[in-house]
Amino acid sequence: MGEGALQGKIAYVTGGSCGIGRATALCFAEAGADVAICHLGDADQAASLVQAVAARGRRAFAAEADVASPAATRAFAAAAEAALGPCDILVNNAGINLRGPFESITEEIYDRVVDVHLKGMFFMAQAVYAGMVARGHGRIINIASQMALKGGPNATPYCSAKAGIIGFTRGLAWEAAPKGVLVNAIAPGPIDTDLNRDRVEWRKMMVETLPIGRLGKVEEIAATALMLAGPGGDYYVGATLSPNGGDIMY
Ligand code: NAP
Repeated sequence: MGEGALQGKIAYVTGGSCGIGRATALCFAEAGADVAICHLGDADQAASLVQAVAARGRRAFAAEADVASPAATRAFAAAAEAALGPCDILVNNAGINLRGPFESITEEIYDRVVDVHLKGMFFMAQAVYAGMVARGHGRIINIASQMALKGGPNATPYCSAKAGIIGFTRGLAWEAAPKGVLVNAIAPGPIDTDLNRDRVEWRKMMVETLPIGRLGKVEEIAATALMLAGPGGDYYVGATLSPNGGDIMY
């Protein structure tokens, strides 16, 4: 167990069983943090994540919790605190994308996408915020998307929710920074995960048009989260960092 940037910290990562959340949980464990994750349904992946964190010499906790439910986020936070201790770093990462042309989007689809992303991140943050304020320190990192910045077809609920996450990040950052809690967002570009694995044509098009000529790797988003979570993030407040292979330059 070396002296990493997150030595002795406790991180909660929503949607930590696979993709960007899993890579972030492992990266944080390698940097010295104990990690609690929640996930939705894939218990095998969650169990393998717990093993992988333990193999890095850190404690891990996993629970099934649908972040769309504020009660479930509060229950996950309470269980994670009982298992590992209070949250130093929250990575609000859990996400889905239900796609379709605007005219086909039902209230049910809209509610699900917005509830998982925006409502989920809002109330998950609220579940750990009071403790962070009481201790005078904390980091909250919300995973938005480049789709919040550039939009894209057949994803109006997703674009709406992700833009809302950036607004939420900025709003909370104002309240939280004076209390020692730094709130920031990451807006990844196209990353190679299960979320887009079946979108073969879209992936090909992205590879052909991105300046960097490839999709992003989950570890590249985890590296940005690590920077924000550790000492390198000490002066970031309400920022949206965008590792996106050059898809949007700003
Ligand atoms: P992924 O590989 O599909 O992983 C999603 C994770 O979230 C899984 O652990 C899943 O758990 C969990 N999850 C899904 N719905 C949940 C819910 N309601 N409650 C709790 N956990 C839930 O996705 P990813 O690509 O890593 O995406 C992670 C985040 O990055 C999302 O917010 C996504 O919008 C964002 N993002 C992704 C990309 C990209 O190109 N991949 C780009 C920009 C932003 P189970 O497996 O147990 O269901």
